[in-house]
Amino acid sequence: MPRPSASIEDRLAVGLSERFDPVALENGSRVGVIGGGPAGSFFSLFLLKMAETIGLDVDIDIYEPRHFVHKGPAGCNHCGGIVSEFLVQLLAAEGFRLPPEVVQRGIDSYMLHMDVGTVRIDTPLQEKRIAAVYRGNGPRDAGPAPTHVVGFDRHLQDLAVSRGAKIRRQLVNQVSWEEDRPHVQCSTGPSEVYDLVAVAAGINSNVLQPIEGLEFGYRIPEAARTFICEFHLGEATIREHLGTSMHLFLLDIPHLECAAIIPKGDFVTLCLLGDKIDDSLVTTFLDAPEVRACFPKAMVPRTVCHCFPRINVKAAVRPFTDRIVLIGDSGVARLYKDGIGSAYRTAKAAARTAVFHGISDEAFAKHYWPTCRQIDVDNSIGRFMFTVSHVIQKTRPTRRALFRMTATEQTRTGNRRHMSSVLWDLFTGSAPYREILLRTFRPAFVARLGWNLVAGNVAPGSLASANGQPTNGDANGH
Ligand SMILES: Cc1cc2nc3c(=O)[nH]c(=O)nc-3n(C[C@H](O)[C@H](O)[C@H](O)COP(=O)(O)OP(=O)(O)OC[C@H]3O[C@@H](n4cnc5c(N)ncnc54)[C@H](O)[C@@H]3O)c2cc1C
Repeated sequence: MPRPSASIEDRLAVGLSERFDPVALENGSRVGVIGGGPAGSFFSLFLLKMAETIGLDVDIDIYEPRHFVHKGPAGCNHCGGIVSEFLVQLLAAEGFRLPPEVVQRGIDSYMLHMDVGTVRIDTPLQEKRIAAVYRGNGPRDAGPAPTHVVGFDRHLQDLAVSRGAKIRRQLVNQVSWEEDRPHVQCSTGPSEVYDLVAVAAGINSNVLQPIEGLEFGYRIPEAARTFICEFHLGEATIREHLGTSMHLFLLDIPHLECAAIIPKGDFVTLCLLGDKIDDSLVTTFLDAPEVRACFPKAMVPRTVCHCFPRINVKAAVRPFTDRIVLIGDSGVARLYKDGIGSAYRTAKAAARTAVFHGISDEAFAKHYWPTCRQIDVDNSIGRFMFTVSHVIQKTRPTRRALFRMTATEQTRTGNRRHMSSVLWDLFTGSAPYREILLRTFRPAFVARLGWNLVAGNVAPGSLASANGQPTNGDANGH
């Protein structure tokens, strides 16, 4: 028998017959996956791929009522649809390239809008790109479904099915524990018994309450209300007014953490994230001159689809027990950014644990929880960074300094673009918050920020010479 500390290579060498975890997947084991969003599909894909490498034959049922081919809420998983460049690259390295019908637009830059001006920031190394995708099949009222558009979730689900997963178009309404095995119950049909259940039902699902009720210590993650909507502008207007940039706003609006306008095909998606997003905050935001300026004739058009989905702000407590593991938003997600990326990471860590280390509470605690913990700790640093960002948003001199520093950097190359790379990674989720924070402690960063704090405020008119567009007030030195 290999010792519990055996490496993956050791496990591969010994094969299936000598598994060290008393609770482990065997040939013919049944795995139930609740939810076929990114976490559920990634988990199924990785589990099947890893199991194959050690000759393990498992059956996977993915429970997912959505087809992701309908327009509007019925087909949608309520998301900005930005796939971080880090994830785009990871997926490509795994052999999962995103095809053109999935990528609605390659985003190569972003425009940062503040009351002191607007600055365009290109990808820091002028090579990375992020992808804008639809999670479903586009917004409601978008006309007939175009055949050339494939939603991201559908694409991942098809990949999982091509590897052998089966889809059950049913909503799970109960998970119970009987005779040492988890049981999954839908509104119709008998309950199904599984050797392992992976819960990938997101944060907005009713199935999380019964799981909390199993009393193994799981607590549903804390979540906040967000706002998301779609505008129809047409391809040509989008090209003229928004281009291939994601538009981000640093405005002094209480409770608003992030605001982004993302161009996609004939539509643009607007996302507002924060801790108390309500109708009045949405109205205040849409009335802001910096926002209106992004639209033709400075008029915000009617939305074709909108909703207030919830987003994770704190991690779940104990998202695992014997034979049950919670992944993606049902477990832990990155704060305000790259939720699809954290769905990928938690799904992969859970699949690796299940295949190579076992499916007991102990195996998940030892091999799965560290990945969740790492995301959770990084989120604490992210929370601190958003607090600092609030201070900047509230103080005009610091806004001027940030704008000036970012704008003047645009003529520089690579790692001399200190503020631009910090902002890029902060807004796109392309790097861990810890790494971004460490960059802001570098002497060169601090010195440049200090200089711009002086130069940007002693002579605010000098902003006009920078590589951005200052507002009239600042260009005139007001
Ligand atoms: C406004 C907003 C904007 C966002 N923008 C981005 C972004 O631009 N980029 C990014 O990376 N992340 C973004 N996120 C976060 C991202 O959407 C999530 O982190 C990600 O979708 C998590 O994937 P998941 O598979 O865990 O959950 P989900 O995507 O929520 O998928 C859960 C799936 O489970 C299914 N399900 C639920 N209950 C049941 C049940 N009882 N039985 C069967 N199936 C069930 C649902 O139908 C759904 O398909 C955003 C979130 C919000 C709220």
